[in-house]
Amino acid sequence: MRAPALFLCGSVLVSAMTAEAKLRVVTTTQDPAALTRAVGGDRVTVLSLCKGFQDPHFLDPKPSYMLELNKADLVESIGLELEVGYLPTLVSGARNDEIHPGRPGYLDLSQFVTPTEVAGTADRGLGDVHPSGNPHYWLDPENGRRMARGIAARLTQLDPDGKDSYAKNLAAFETALTAKEADWDKRMAPLKGEKIVTFHKSWSYFADRYHLDVVGQVEPKPGIPPSPSHTLELIKLMQAQHVKLIALENFYDRRVPDLIGEKTGAKVVFVPVSVGGEEGVDAYADLFERIIKHFESAGKL
Ligand SMILES: [Zn+2]
Repeated sequence: MRAPALFLCGSVLVSAMTAEAKLRVVTTTQDPAALTRAVGGDRVTVLSLCKGFQDPHFLDPKPSYMLELNKADLVESIGLELEVGYLPTLVSGARNDEIHPGRPGYLDLSQFVTPTEVAGTADRGLGDVHPSGNPHYWLDPENGRRMARGIAARLTQLDPDGKDSYAKNLAAFETALTAKEADWDKRMAPLKGEKIVTFHKSWSYFADRYHLDVVGQVEPKPGIPPSPSHTLELIKLMQAQHVKLIALENFYDRRVPDLIGEKTGAKVVFVPVSVGGEEGVDAYADLFERIIKHFESAGKL
């Protein structure tokens, strides 16, 4: 937060201060951005570096992003090494000490959740992009709730005058989310135990929450492109287990999944896995609403 550069008079002063007083938040992906907008309301401006229709593991660290980070009061990351390929470069290039890890201006949201798949055996040298556990935790609404609480606490720390506003916004967010969760639980109940295949290990938290059985991925390992031998094994596995759905994160190439679909008879469904992943998916709850609609529209599986 920066003080206004000029002293003006009357209402001009008030509006100038209001504009200047907003906390500038930069997030790596659109999911924390949506949560921050929900909790921060009109006291924050929020920019997301990675868009929801892009693979969040990879981003070209453009100089313009460093300029945004130079002006930022707070940077929010998903953590668990999701952004390891670009965020450290951007933060160190931003010339803004306040947003370095360990400072109040840096918030790694993974601290608020319990990661899965922390095997300790992953090897980034082999191309594995989940070396610290699965970072796709925003795909469980309970984790979204925890992220929102963590964001509210940090916004309050950075902007104590907004305490009541953040608390009120957080309460409204949680109430609305709780109501929607009941509806989503009901709609996903018929799919309990359904076997699915995905492209990447993006779905672990969603599958745990809604009791889907993810039997395999098109990728041999997270971040490793499909190989003929793995694809053949996956086809055999899907045939043996009668898998009828491939839930394909919508920024991956669909050629191999389509081939697998042809060989097995499984339906390939393109599904967003982040806010901003499809038009109209603007708020955090919109993401679950849309994913569940895709599952519903896949038919009776
Ligand atoms: Zn991943």
